[in-house]
Amino acid sequence: MDKLNDKSLLKQHSYINGQWLNKGKVDNAEFSVVNPATNEVLIKVSNAGVADAELAVKAAKGALKGWSSKSANERAVLLRNWFNLMMQHQDDLGRILTLEQGKPLAEAKGEIAYGASFIEWFAEEGKRVYGDTIPAPSSDKRIIVIKQPVGVVASITPWNFPNAMIARKAAAALAAGCTFVGRPATQTPLSALAMAELAERAGIPAGVFNIVIGEDAKGIGKVLTQHPDVAKFTFTGSTAVGKTLIAQCATSVKKVSMELGGNAPFIVFNDADIDAAVEGAVLSKYRNAGQTCVCTNRILVQQGIAREFTEKFTAAVAKLVTGNGLTDGVFIGPMISSSAVDNVNKLVQDSINAGAKLELGGAKAQVVDGVTNNFYQPTILSQVTNDMPIAANEIFGPVSPIISFETEQDAINMANDTEYGLAAYFYARDIGVIWRVAEGLEYGMVGINEGLISNAAAPFGGVKQSGSGREGSKYGLDDYLETKYLCMGGL
Ligand code: ADP
Repeated sequence: MDKLNDKSLLKQHSYINGQWLNKGKVDNAEFSVVNPATNEVLIKVSNAGVADAELAVKAAKGALKGWSSKSANERAVLLRNWFNLMMQHQDDLGRILTLEQGKPLAEAKGEIAYGASFIEWFAEEGKRVYGDTIPAPSSDKRIIVIKQPVGVVASITPWNFPNAMIARKAAAALAAGCTFVGRPATQTPLSALAMAELAERAGIPAGVFNIVIGEDAKGIGKVLTQHPDVAKFTFTGSTAVGKTLIAQCATSVKKVSMELGGNAPFIVFNDADIDAAVEGAVLSKYRNAGQTCVCTNRILVQQGIAREFTEKFTAAVAKLVTGNGLTDGVFIGPMISSSAVDNVNKLVQDSINAGAKLELGGAKAQVVDGVTNNFYQPTILSQVTNDMPIAANEIFGPVSPIISFETEQDAINMANDTEYGLAAYFYARDIGVIWRVAEGLEYGMVGINEGLISNAAAPFGGVKQSGSGREGSKYGLDDYLETKYLCMGGL
């Protein structure tokens, strides 16, 4: 933290109603934020609890009228200030993110730019919240449709994208005229608090953007999902927790958006450009040490090219450097915790015992600039079958299981044989194959000859048990708007 240019980006307290809450209401307790590369305590932060979450909802409710009655242009000016400040402080925000989350610095700075791009996008998109006029069934009536902000939005976000998951939600909410209460993951509160500091500097009024940091996920989660003043709840995280939170939201019929788990297939057909597929697979699998919900989870390769692809892919992955994310040249940082490493290792060992062949890695990584228990070697398994645990579960680590298939229909069937439906990728050149597979995949997002697909202009989201709602794009505001029908009669 010594190297930050602007040390006041480092905050230790929840940000509620424009104030830094000096102590959590839970008997002044603190919790530690730890660098996953070294296990060093970076800083202690105050531990907010249920009462603080209630305070934040109250603040957001109090600020709603003022914020929602601003014009979209006025909101856009403030959001653009926020975007500019995030980009001006990209280096510091990236460093904070790497320190608390582990991803390599270049990737962390990329996340800051990605997160900020949603703020820029929605600042503009907020100006285009159009209504409708509809021809009425009788001549003495007029039908008009207007869009209005849903109200107070609450969110819970995970540790894998400490900035961007909040930015994607808050940007759309604020642009639509909603106010926002976010609870970031306890592993990564610092990026969220730095965003709050910059929101304040941008001129976003007190109560519009609130961040509650606290270890009592369940207690705070109950407030955010059940408080009568919260109109909408948005979550990114695991499918299991998402289901619990949807159930909690049901008690007061809140609108919900869910970005849940994935099991992304990456399919390579015989006619694919193999070098391009290798490059796409490396990026889509190994960024963030494999800890993203759209990371490739299974590589399905058509038999004719299975050996060639596996050899080229293994050679490319073997070059990836594992280590502390602050060290130059590192591509794979630590995983979030040693227990995450143990879970991934268990999946790998179970698959080997079930008949998979280890092509690369398969153990904890020894690194000179971090603690071994938190790093896992980039790993490749071949001769995997779709029913092995490594293919059926979300791996969330730097491991690629390779499964070979014969026909196009086999590939589609295997790809769809999961409860998840977030992202899928495939590489092919034949236009017929491309259309049939693109339409046949039961996924919300499909990368065709592309391994990195997410950006602010495109709708991000899943089908099946990967969730509901879309973030980014012209569709992303819909989740934060109500449609109101005005019937004008007696004309
Ligand atoms: P991850 O493996 O990414 O942490 P989780 O779904 O476990 O995925 O967690 C996502 C977010 O949800 C985290 O911020 C976590 O603290 C929070 N969380 C986990 N369980 C609950 C719960 N029962 N109620 C509210 N929030 C929860």
